[in-house]
Amino acid sequence: MDFDLTKEQKMIRDEVRNFARQEIAPRAEEMEKTGEYPYDIMEKMAELGLMGIPFPEEYGGMGGDWVSMHLCIEELSRSDMTLGLLLDVTTSVVGQELLAFGTEKQKKKWLVPLAEGKKIGAFGLTEADSGSDAGALSTVAELKGDEWVLNGTKQFVTNIGFKNASLILVAAKVGSKDGKNIVATFIVPKDAPGFKVGARYAKMALQPSATHEVILSDCRIPKENLLGNLARGFAQHLVVLETGRISVAAIAVGVAQACFDEALKYASGRVQFGKPIFHFQGIQFKLADMAVAIELARNQYLKAAWLKDNGRSHTFETVAAKLYASEMAEKVASDALQIHGGYGYMDEYPISRYYKSIKLLQIVEGTSEVQRMIIGRYLAGKMGKTTMI
Ligand SMILES: Cc1cc2nc3c(=O)[nH]c(=O)nc-3n(C[C@H](O)[C@H](O)[C@H](O)COP(=O)(O)OP(=O)(O)OC[C@H]3O[C@@H](n4cnc5c(N)ncnc54)[C@H](O)[C@@H]3O)c2cc1C
Repeated sequence: MDFDLTKEQKMIRDEVRNFARQEIAPRAEEMEKTGEYPYDIMEKMAELGLMGIPFPEEYGGMGGDWVSMHLCIEELSRSDMTLGLLLDVTTSVVGQELLAFGTEKQKKKWLVPLAEGKKIGAFGLTEADSGSDAGALSTVAELKGDEWVLNGTKQFVTNIGFKNASLILVAAKVGSKDGKNIVATFIVPKDAPGFKVGARYAKMALQPSATHEVILSDCRIPKENLLGNLARGFAQHLVVLETGRISVAAIAVGVAQACFDEALKYASGRVQFGKPIFHFQGIQFKLADMAVAIELARNQYLKAAWLKDNGRSHTFETVAAKLYASEMAEKVASDALQIHGGYGYMDEYPISRYYKSIKLLQIVEGTSEVQRMIIGRYLAGKMGKTTMI
């Protein structure tokens, strides 16, 4: 077994760590206050090639691997979670779906600008009445002549509000079989007739990551914008969501690490009862548990990414990474805030921002309950056997 990162993986991690510390971290608090999206930071991320790390060079990528990509997501999230989420949605989900299921023409037209960081992608699965039960969606697509006509409303859409967002992958029903929707995925450009970006949601945190409704009213797109197989759109999406879940785990580890760093620093400087609070066992135990949990979650997301890079099955490892890391991060953020005492509650320290942001990771790309349901199904397939691996 080799737990060492390769030279290239270490190089990317260190480069992104330095970039994030110098360019992102000093601005994170201000970005959260104003809700302004940092387009200039995105341009620099594009210059560094970060938006296309795992994609082949012929499609504008770096020809790297998913381990490198996730190390990058962790490091960005350690400075600001918004940018980790940006990469998750654009690269792990949208870009990968285009790469895996797109035609050559679609990849050249839609994937290349995403991989080069010139454009941003979004995906629209969730609707008002279909969240965890995502297959029960109501948005419809009908083929009329040479065009697909889409009608419906998608909610909670990440990225689509940015001025450089070019497209959204929309899941829509094209028929039904045995009482279930047949779902297809469509590439919908933001400038398609009948496409409208709706209201921006007011959220508890993560303000720069604009979240909007998307309204499709007789939205017309060319016939060739169907992505992949007509009847397999939902299955296609589930495939790429597996990678999205590794990304969510990497984001969680990044934010948890930031919480830990702040807590350790604060505990070393804050004096009560005549000595830094770090020296109290009650504080040290918290820090020890945090350090262990972060390292375990990091190992798990890296294992899932490594399995993906090696073309091996990774459903259980991915779900375990997402579930464990997102719940771990909430606990770490809570303990880190506790170590800060009253100051942890004040905006003066970043810990309250981390604490509010981190909750999202137990909700997006399948809630914790949904992850447990997937693990339950996996275990059902193992019933009667003595070991899981
Ligand atoms: C900030 C933000 C950004 C998002 N970005 C996107 C995006 O870009 N694209 C997109 O498509 N979606 C996006 N989402 C949507 C997100 O994926 C959904 O919110 C999530 O899948 C949960 O769906 P829901 O909110 O409808 O909750 P529901 O499905 O209504 O669930 C409510 C509660 O019931 C639980 N529950 C549901 N079914 C079961 C069950 N069978 N057993 C046990 N418990 C159950 C859930 O776990 C949850 O706790 C975003 C959400 C947020 C908050």
